[in-house]
Amino acid sequence: MNDLILVRYGELALKGKNRTDFENRLLENMRTKLHTYPGVKVKKTFGRIFVEPGENPVEPIIEALTDVFGIVGISVARRVESDLEMIKKAAVQLVQEQMPVPRTFKVVARRAQKNFPHRSNELNRVVGGEVLRNVDGIRVDVHQPELELRIEVRGEETYLYGQDIQGAGGLPVGSSGRVMLLLSGGIDSPVAAYLALKRGATVEAIHFHSYPFTSERAKQKVVDLAQELTRYGGNIRLHVVPFTEIQTQIRSKCKDSYMITIMRRMMMRIAEETARRQKALALVTGESLGQVASQTLESMHVINHVVRIPILRPLIGMDKQDIMTISKKIGTYETSILPYEDCCTVFQPKSPVTRPRLELCEEMEKGLDVDALVKEAVDGIETIRLTPAQKEEGEFSSYF
Ligand code: ATP
Ligand code: MG
Repeated sequence: MNDLILVRYGELALKGKNRTDFENRLLENMRTKLHTYPGVKVKKTFGRIFVEPGENPVEPIIEALTDVFGIVGISVARRVESDLEMIKKAAVQLVQEQMPVPRTFKVVARRAQKNFPHRSNELNRVVGGEVLRNVDGIRVDVHQPELELRIEVRGEETYLYGQDIQGAGGLPVGSSGRVMLLLSGGIDSPVAAYLALKRGATVEAIHFHSYPFTSERAKQKVVDLAQELTRYGGNIRLHVVPFTEIQTQIRSKCKDSYMITIMRRMMMRIAEETARRQKALALVTGESLGQVASQTLESMHVINHVVRIPILRPLIGMDKQDIMTISKKIGTYETSILPYEDCCTVFQPKSPVTRPRLELCEEMEKGLDVDALVKEAVDGIETIRLTPAQKEEGEFSSYF
């Protein structure tokens, strides 16, 4: 008798070659996620994905798998010899091990081969009876059981499945192409990253840093956030852009109320050029409609105007409260609320324009050498490569 972990996956629309790509990507991501557990094997058999835990305990592996996008459900599968007495004993044990022990259950048995001497109905009845006799207070509920104890007889081996644990859903990271995330030190952009990863995008991050207006610690906070995202995204490259010169020029040459708008237009240009160099096909931001002055439709329109690349805004329809809930769930909240200044707060004008006018922006930008500033910033980028292993080994955000 031993345990396997069964993984359920798949969106309904998956067919043909897409399905194979999806499965291979998922297998690879699961292997990467579990690489710190020696001897764990991830396999595809009978069109399903199993994890053989080897000598490792099952719980931390299940916990790790709940971070892997593309997995819909996870359950422990107990493998026993196809012998009625063994199956009965394993069923009782499995029910008793569920946390919490269910109050109601039903047995759903299947025979893949008909040479097993007991029919499915008989198995349901016999195994169900055994559970009723041995588990205190449990009842059968055929309509809405707390535990559906599934039994599958496959030749010499029989599998019994426990509670289905909900997976993260979505698509395997790496199955939808590459995006460039504008990562600030705030609450929103890490949540936007999480949602982009959930739809299968490979995420690279870009951060605008204005040393010495903003501190090294502000930058470290962003490095830490990118590091936290590797839990879901695997390796993440973080591009840190020197932004001080641009901000200084904007401050001296542009109207106070337009500073943020023009700063954002510069960010977009730099992000687009970086995306082009890294072969990313879209930008991602943490903006949500109407949240602050620069996130009105008029602002977004004027800010978008300088780039041709699509800008994805996964949080567009969310309230701050919804965003905070996700932020807490994914573990970035505590870092996001650390107090270090971000480059926008340092340059916050007294009354930022909420309805910027395109012609005015263009007029003010004539005073800046936009192309040269963009090129200089992109050429000055420092790229930091973050891997999940660094965190597990407690060796935070080393630069290489
Ligand atoms: P966040 O919590 O993500 O910082 P916010 O509500 O504070 O968002 P803004 O500061 O207006 O909103 O920023 C909007 C978006 O612009 C951010 O979500 C992020 O994608 C991008 N952004 C802002 N500042 C920076 C920065 N210094 N570097 C990179 N991206 C940035
Ligand atoms: Mg911010």
